[in-house]
Amino acid sequence: MRQKYCNLPEKQTSFPSSAKLELCWKDGLMQVREKGSDGSLFHVPSLDEYYDDMNVLFHIRSCGPVSSYAYQRLRLLQTKFELYTMVFGDQESQDAMDTGHRDFYNVRKVDTHIHHSAAMNAKHLLRFMKKKLKRFSEDIVDEKNGVKRTLKAVFDDMGIGWTDLCIDRLQVWADKSCLHRFDRFNNKYSPMGQNELRTIFLKTDNAMGGRYLAELSREIISDLEESKYQHAEWRLSIYGRKKSEWDNLSKWVLGRGKGDGKPLLSQNIRWMIQIPRLFALYKTTGQLNHFGEMLENIFTPIFEATLFPEKYPDVAEFLQHISGFDTVDDESRSEKPVDRTFSSKNLAPQQWDIADNPSYKYYSYFIQSNLRLLNMFRHQKGMNTFAYRPHAGEAGEVHHLDTAFLLADGINHGLNLRKSMGLQYLFYLAQIGLAMSPCSNNQLFLAYEKSPFPVYFQRGLNVSLSTDDPLMFHQTKEPLMEEYSIAKQIWHFTSVDLCEIARNSVLQSGFPDDLKASWFGTANFTEDNKPQSTNVPNLRIAYRRRVYNEETHLLHGNADDTEDIGAMCNLLLLSPSKRLPKCSLSDFGIENMEQKIRPYPSTLPAGGEETELAILDGEQQGGLADLGEEVDWSVQQRLTPHGSQANMRKLGSQAFEQLTHKGSFDMSRRGSISLPHEHSGIMNEKAQDEFLHRLTAEIMHTKPDRRELFLAAGAAALLGCIGGLALGLLRKR
Ligand SMILES: [Zn+2]
Repeated sequence: MRQKYCNLPEKQTSFPSSAKLELCWKDGLMQVREKGSDGSLFHVPSLDEYYDDMNVLFHIRSCGPVSSYAYQRLRLLQTKFELYTMVFGDQESQDAMDTGHRDFYNVRKVDTHIHHSAAMNAKHLLRFMKKKLKRFSEDIVDEKNGVKRTLKAVFDDMGIGWTDLCIDRLQVWADKSCLHRFDRFNNKYSPMGQNELRTIFLKTDNAMGGRYLAELSREIISDLEESKYQHAEWRLSIYGRKKSEWDNLSKWVLGRGKGDGKPLLSQNIRWMIQIPRLFALYKTTGQLNHFGEMLENIFTPIFEATLFPEKYPDVAEFLQHISGFDTVDDESRSEKPVDRTFSSKNLAPQQWDIADNPSYKYYSYFIQSNLRLLNMFRHQKGMNTFAYRPHAGEAGEVHHLDTAFLLADGINHGLNLRKSMGLQYLFYLAQIGLAMSPCSNNQLFLAYEKSPFPVYFQRGLNVSLSTDDPLMFHQTKEPLMEEYSIAKQIWHFTSVDLCEIARNSVLQSGFPDDLKASWFGTANFTEDNKPQSTNVPNLRIAYRRRVYNEETHLLHGNADDTEDIGAMCNLLLLSPSKRLPKCSLSDFGIENMEQKIRPYPSTLPAGGEETELAILDGEQQGGLADLGEEVDWSVQQRLTPHGSQANMRKLGSQAFEQLTHKGSFDMSRRGSISLPHEHSGIMNEKAQDEFLHRLTAEIMHTKPDRRELFLAAGAAALLGCIGGLALGLLRKR
């Protein structure tokens, strides 16, 4: 069902030249036609079909048995992950150590959801405002009815000098008052509650041509470039009030007669377009007549720039730097409708002339459908295409996520997936990207500790971390790192976890494929993983893929419950002989995996489990049992006295050396002994130390040799005999 809305069809073999094409609006959808014909060259599902599909989807995902099944599967996925990290966590961190200089700091990470006008932190904005007021107070920043005002005049009118400026006075930080009050949060975009300052400092379209915001942006870009590995997808608004918005915005970004005169382009940023759902406001203020007009203002300029790039060079060029479209507004708001009938499909966009806002699904359909028509057209012309990545499931009705499941390539937030197991499972299966912002949610809708992020992550949903609005939510110069850092502290993420989330963020983002390929070290980056570039061990990727494949096999009826239980048992693996063959991933087409990612393959004995058990020294088994701890099988088998005593002694002393010098015990690099670290939960640190001391003591002070025993026994017997003879002789006397 989703494919019908999201797949990009193959290029048409014969396609008319641009000169023979014309653009025409019909029922809120842009049609690309051949001149003289009245049929569109591209097609998307109709509004009726979409509403029907929404209904079907709603009934499927909310039906009792489906919910139960989805809930059970998701719980199982989570448990599998917990088991996996218990068993392989140490192997993973060892693998991550082997990736050379790569670590979390120098893997690529993208801020997949960030609004441009709040991309700087409050301190940065404050410093910038102070600088301007102190040194450039004569700048003309406002012009109303022919009256020009300087920056100094604006601040004087507010009764504020540059020495008065401080963070507290700026009032841009989100606080307790914003919880469940998106309207109050929106006011935080205005420094000191002054809309005028917002226009001067944070808008692209003002009396200065958005020069201040361009200068600020350049400062943030240089910070990002300095960090090198951090990237962002900044969202700029297209409101749909006027057709000229696109031209203005393009000129601002490209620095042509607007902004600060230089292009705002960098390898560290991509632009996204956000469409605020504010039709009702524009209608009441008389800026628009009907909803169709809003769609026309948004889409006509970009269709035209696609059809005739030479006529609209600025827009056409700007489009090349855009990775996708977003739609934003308060999802929790449900105002009392005046004229809405709630069967919105009865009204075509050009008939929507009432002052009520259309519903989320209505908005989404028209934005996504026109975007998809545009994508088909651009794809046909060999141009870049755009993803649809709306805000969805931040608050409000759960059915916003039904819409997102059908239409979106990725979403921002997705908090409400926690309320519908059916949908959450579908999002897992479709691997739709979720750009989540727990710090933002914490201030607006959901306390940090209640965030579903760690659960989604464990279950294998495609999640990334993003900042949303650093101006309101973050305090440091590196807001994205702050986001990762808090998540790491609260949820105990390992370095491998963080690198996996960073990898997800790059995959979700709209940076060009060739750039991603160079970051990931392989052209086929969606399939192949190069741990040297991502710092994510192949073991983790293989685990995710295997579990995902098990899930789809089960759904397609290619596997049944027994196999599923079998797979679980293999993960529990109490025996290394079972661990090795069952971990083989060749069934799932993963053959190029390096052998070393399989745990302990080179040291396994040739025989089966019985032989392994047999060769384990009885006394040793008893000794381990005394420790009262379950010991990882792989450890036991490695300690069996295979080789000569000299070898054992060497092994023991190496182990002892490692333990005393490094404090940790890990020799898998040398292919000899490997013991779990403290994370493993198989053997805790105390038990491990105790065990090693006993082991070392046992090996270092070896028992007397059998020959010596015989000699001693012989000597004792001889002495006994002599003693006996002597006693006999004495008695006779
Ligand atoms: Zn947002």
